[in-house]
Amino acid sequence: MVKRMIVHIDEEKCNGCGKCVSPCAEGAIQIIDGKAKVVSEELCDGMGFCIGVCPQDAISIEERQTVDFSPEAVAAAKVKRDEEAKETKHEDTSIHCFQCGLSENERYLMPLRHGKESIWVCTRCLPALIHG
Ligand code: SF4
Repeated sequence: MVKRMIVHIDEEKCNGCGKCVSPCAEGAIQIIDGKAKVVSEELCDGMGFCIGVCPQDAISIEERQTVDFSPEAVAAAKVKRDEEAKETKHEDTSIHCFQCGLSENERYLMPLRHGKESIWVCTRCLPALIHG
């Protein structure tokens, strides 16, 4: 256990809109039973990119005792999400994120020039593409 900054979600204020899910590049937030939850505290780096998108002011950053942030757990969770995304991908004509394969119906996508290619990337994969 370490004392560090970590996201806190006020479930009384949360309306389950899901806007906080995509900005979290680590995949720490999911909507469960209609409320946003930090699914595993080792996935939350406490940077708070989710705070600004919440229309309910339900997200804050607090300093408290918790497990350490784990880049290894983030990588493992990403592999799992990517596999799940590929399994659930349907035959359709919508555009998909070149990285995780999710469609425009599942996540907000942005056009991007990558090398000599024009690609679509989702808001969750974009930070990793920029920062490596
Ligand atoms: S953006 Fe705010 S209101 Fe919407 S699911 Fe996330 S915490 Fe809840």
